[in-house]
Amino acid sequence: MNTMKVILTSALVLWCGICFAEVNVVASIPDLGDMAKRIGGDRIKLTVLASGREDLHGVPARPSFIPKLHKADLLISLGLDAEHSWLPALAAEARNNRIMEYREGWIEVHEGVQLLDIPEVISRSEGEQHAEGNPHINIGPQNGRFMAENIAYALMEFDPEGSSEYDANLTEYSGELDSLVAVLKDKGAALAGIKVISYHADISYLATFYGMDVVGTLEPKPGIEPTARHLAQLSKTAQKQKVQLVIYNQAQPSKLPEKFADRIGISAVQIGNMAGAVSEAGTWGQLQQYNLQQLLEGMDLK
Ligand SMILES: [Zn+2]
Repeated sequence: MNTMKVILTSALVLWCGICFAEVNVVASIPDLGDMAKRIGGDRIKLTVLASGREDLHGVPARPSFIPKLHKADLLISLGLDAEHSWLPALAAEARNNRIMEYREGWIEVHEGVQLLDIPEVISRSEGEQHAEGNPHINIGPQNGRFMAENIAYALMEFDPEGSSEYDANLTEYSGELDSLVAVLKDKGAALAGIKVISYHADISYLATFYGMDVVGTLEPKPGIEPTARHLAQLSKTAQKQKVQLVIYNQAQPSKLPEKFADRIGISAVQIGNMAGAVSEAGTWGQLQQYNLQQLLEGMDLK
């Protein structure tokens, strides 16, 4: 009887072990965590590093990230140098062979995305340049589908037994994203042709999606603090070109864009730079809705 019990218990433990062989997934930002959860469901154990309120390029590297990265099967990031100032150093510190840079466990989600702002010349004098293109793909509604697909393919490759589940989840999620994109396009149609200025060069995909025209940035060059001289020039350009809106995000100081907009008699509006930026934008889809709502409110179109 006892032997039987032992055998049964062992079989059950083994069986459950197989059932719940979770994939350890670490996502750099909440957008990617949200998507990984939608596709991976119960098959993954998820850790998200950034809270979403930070500057994408400057997430504070907490020591608590290291053990999580040490156990990661997959590390999912935007790539294109979006996280270059904080993630590679952490990954190196974590001493996990799967996720050392460029190894098979480090996944970037931009494959398939139509990249913008690819520099013609790379030069130190141009500030923080991104050689492969603008890394802020996560605030472009047009890019969600590709991001989700890249995550799904990475999970399928690492955990082939879960392929049909990942595939079914991807199909369902992609359907939701397609509907969301259609709604955003429709509601945001009034933004087409509007001239805007952003704080940092981070709204290229967002502007492209809604047909807005980015005339300039408050930062003279990416990652370089605004200077009085640059702002004075930009102010003249903005008036000449009839710029209608200044766009900044929750991680940037609000005083400067508000003051700049006020001086030329237009509005400044705050958007979120990633999921989790504000409480009402917890998921990637909610972030896109929130950003559109903010833009429409800024233009008095709502
Ligand atoms: Zn940037």
